[in-house]
Parts: sequence; C-alpha cells; structure tokens
Amino acid sequence: MVRPECSRKSPKTSLLAIYRLLYREYGPQHWWPAETPLEMIIGAILTQSAAWTNVEKAINNLKAGADLSIEGLRSLPHDELARLIYPSGYYNVKARKVNAFVEWLSERYDGDLDRLFVLDTVELRNELLSVHGVGEETADSIILYAAHQPIFVIDAYTRRIITHLGLAPQKDAYAAFQALFMDNLPRDETLFNEYHALLVQHGKAVCRKTPLCTGCCLNRLCPTFTEPSSP
Ligand code: SF4
Repeated sequence: MVRPECSRKSPKTSLLAIYRLLYREYGPQHWWPAETPLEMIIGAILTQSAAWTNVEKAINNLKAGADLSIEGLRSLPHDELARLIYPSGYYNVKARKVNAFVEWLSERYDGDLDRLFVLDTVELRNELLSVHGVGEETADSIILYAAHQPIFVIDAYTRRIITHLGLAPQKDAYAAFQALFMDNLPRDETLFNEYHALLVQHGKAVCRKTPLCTGCCLNRLCPTFTEPSSP
C-alpha cells in the first residue's frame, strides 16, 4: 500500500500542500464577513455554539434595532440586547458576554479599539482572555480578523481535519494545535486568515463528522481515506 503523502513529509511541507489544495478547491473566502472591527468582535462572541446564518440574523437585528457602536451597545438594557440577539441562541448568556466586552473596553481603553490593538500579540491575547466570555478561539479570532495580527485560530473543524490527516499533535490541546501551524508556517496574517477560513469551509462541506472522502481534494494526502470498494 502506498503511504499517503502527509505521513511521509514534514509538517511544514504537508501544511503548505494542504493550504494550496484547499485554496485551489474553494478560492478566497473573504473573511471575516463584517463591516467594522466591532461588528467582527460581536460576531465572534455570538458565533460561539451557533451556526453563522443565525449569527447574521442577530447582527442584522442589532444593526436595525440599535446603534452597533460601543455606546449604542452600552445603552441597551439587557432584555433588549438579549431580544435582538435571540437568533444566535443562548441569548441571555451572550448578552452578558457582549455587555462584559463593551464595559471592559470602555473602562480600560476608553472604548477605543485602536488603543487596544496597538498591544503586541501576547499582551493583546492576555487582555482579551481576561474578559468574561472570551475564550482562546474567540480571542484569537479577534486578534487575527479585527486587530490583523498573525495568530492561528483553532476550532473544531481544524482539529477534525488535521486529525484525519494524521498531523494531530500528541497533546490534544488548543495550544498544541496552534503551535503546529505557528511553528511550521510563515507568520503571515493573510495566510492565517485564509487558511483558517478554508479549513472551516472544508469542514462544513466535505470533512464532516461523517466525511465525504471520495470527492475530497485532500484525499491523496489523507491516511483516513480509503478507496471505495468497486461493485
Ligand atoms: S479524505 Fe476524508 S477524512 Fe481525509 S480530509 Fe478528506 S474528507 Fe477528511
């Protein structure tokens, strides 16, 4: 049996090959779909445990029913904020998270995202992780897609695809998956932006919980792929 390429090549070569194949298959993904950095951040909070289509409905409600600014969000009573973001699910919890973020930004950075985003990546990440409701994936999404600093975002799609491809780190931890990408790829914001978006697209369209391996653009690299038996 011929061994798939991912098990023969270095992680760096494999990760670049995967990126090129995904880009050829799906093209540019134009992430993050938001008009302003604040809208991006609110979207990153609302997308926790939610499909993006439902987040879009919540964002549209916010735009129609409120001023999507720090002061606009601060002035919304909890119940009204929860009502507007209802489509994204867990609306009471998420309303508290949105409120925690805008209050924190107002008190600590005078409501000015530019003042926050001048921090270096390590400091910025620590700051964001101190906010109620901001975990590693959300913090890294904000750093990459709103602050435009190069950090790799890890999510469930990335873990699944990388594991199927035989590249998973020994330790099943967010930091270990992130190090796999950050230690083996150039620290390039554009590359990290596109790569993460392409992995999400591939995880939704093809490498699902039950993967559609036959038509997968990565199948020649993938040790999980088995040729369908002929009739
Ligand atoms: S071949 Fe199958 S398991 Fe491997 S990456 Fe493609 S869809 Fe996922």
